[in-house]
Amino acid sequence: MAIVGAGYTGLWTAYYLAKADPSLRIVVLEAQTAGFGASGRNGGWCSALFPVSSQRLASMPGSNREAAIEMHRAMQATVNEVGLVTSAEGIDCDYHKGGTVVLARTPAQLARARAEVAAAQEWGPGDLRLLSADEVAAKVRATKVLGATFTPHCAALHPGKLVRGLAAVVERLGVTIHEHTPVTALGPGRAITSYGVVRAEVVVLATEGFTPGIDGQSRAVAPIYSLMIATEPLDDALWKRIGLADRPTLSDNRHLTIYGQRTADGRIAFGGRGAPYHFRSRIRPSYDEVPRVFKALRRTVRELFELPEVQFTHAWGGPLGVSRDWCASVGLDRGSGLAWAGGYVGDGVSTTNLAGRTLTDLILRRDTGLTRLPWVGHRSRRWEPEPWRWLGINAGLRAMTVADVEERLTGRGSRIARVMGPLVGQ
Ligand SMILES: Cc1cc2nc3c(=O)[nH]c(=O)nc-3n(C[C@H](O)[C@H](O)[C@H](O)COP(=O)(O)OP(=O)(O)OC[C@H]3O[C@@H](n4cnc5c(N)ncnc54)[C@H](O)[C@@H]3O)c2cc1C
Repeated sequence: MAIVGAGYTGLWTAYYLAKADPSLRIVVLEAQTAGFGASGRNGGWCSALFPVSSQRLASMPGSNREAAIEMHRAMQATVNEVGLVTSAEGIDCDYHKGGTVVLARTPAQLARARAEVAAAQEWGPGDLRLLSADEVAAKVRATKVLGATFTPHCAALHPGKLVRGLAAVVERLGVTIHEHTPVTALGPGRAITSYGVVRAEVVVLATEGFTPGIDGQSRAVAPIYSLMIATEPLDDALWKRIGLADRPTLSDNRHLTIYGQRTADGRIAFGGRGAPYHFRSRIRPSYDEVPRVFKALRRTVRELFELPEVQFTHAWGGPLGVSRDWCASVGLDRGSGLAWAGGYVGDGVSTTNLAGRTLTDLILRRDTGLTRLPWVGHRSRRWEPEPWRWLGINAGLRAMTVADVEERLTGRGSRIARVMGPLVGQ
């Protein structure tokens, strides 16, 4: 088995394959170092979120309401699976399951929170709860809070420790990871690298936002950047004021996504979108840093928690992968021996684990509950050629910023978001 990419997708796949059949010869081909991509740089939300709604999942070809609900259950179970495996394998990644609080800080956000709770009740076990402002204060003290939603199905973790720990575990299981070995093209049962050709029964493409760099894959996913900052470790008095004692991950209901967590070493790690998409899906180290976005994130943290004097010690970013219909997918084409998983948008920390287990079942020809989930075999159509891709994605991203301003000024739900939201998966 040849796996291209040593992020969570590639490494979880290697892990479950090696566990299922220790006689398999498995190599992972990685362009840089294990964890170089989004897996080593993310916000550490190991959540049950999936990038498209249950309603959308149910309407996909061959799917239905039950299949969409099964997918939701599988995602919830995956949050626990990551905790169980990391603990069993001794991967110390600060995993703690404290749920997620999504604040509502304007009337329009509160209306969206209520709608989400109603949808969750219609489409699943109904475990998303609406919290009053007082109930929120028992979990976190933030400004302008009118209410929030809470789900128990999320763990906060340290992304880098998870991916490096996982790489060490798969090596112990006999998997070979070739770092600094970029794959330039794929063929039936072949991965072509700058050093030679690797032949394998199955080649797994696990390169997510970097996929457009491989021959023939330029329109498969679009790399969208997400950026993060982290504060210095805060003292106990500040944490007493802020709360987050059980380390729930935190966001609010604005259109341009933000996300945060209290890290195990007492920092606030906080991220958000707003960085531009780059023409022809280009990825460059310099794109990881956008001073305008870092500044906006620092302002958001200061404003959310009333922390005027806090110091920010870290800032970074990276590309995640978005498919044209914003739906993640996993699959195996037996004819060509090519398997793939990706398009997780900002929900890959847990979904990659589900992908790894599902790919293992597909590759080993096991017909299981996982291989019947509605995202299996789903094919998103390709992105538009440039310049349409650049124009559309950046217009969508910009519209979400404007939509949040519109809501702040008018107090009503944004009309811009209603029109442009579908371009950015809302
Ligand atoms: C800043 C940020 C914050 C995020 N926050 C969250 C979050 O809180 N929760 C969440 O669920 N998700 C989050 N995500 C998304 C999540 O990190 C990803 O969905 C997930 O890590 C994808 O894992 P992957 O293994 O598929 O891809 P990656 O981790 O990107 O791995 C792909 C690997 O392929 C390698 N590669 C690329 N091209 C080649 C080639 N040609 N040959 C060989 N190797 C190659 C890369 O070097 C890389 O190591 C975030 C992403 C970012 C960038």
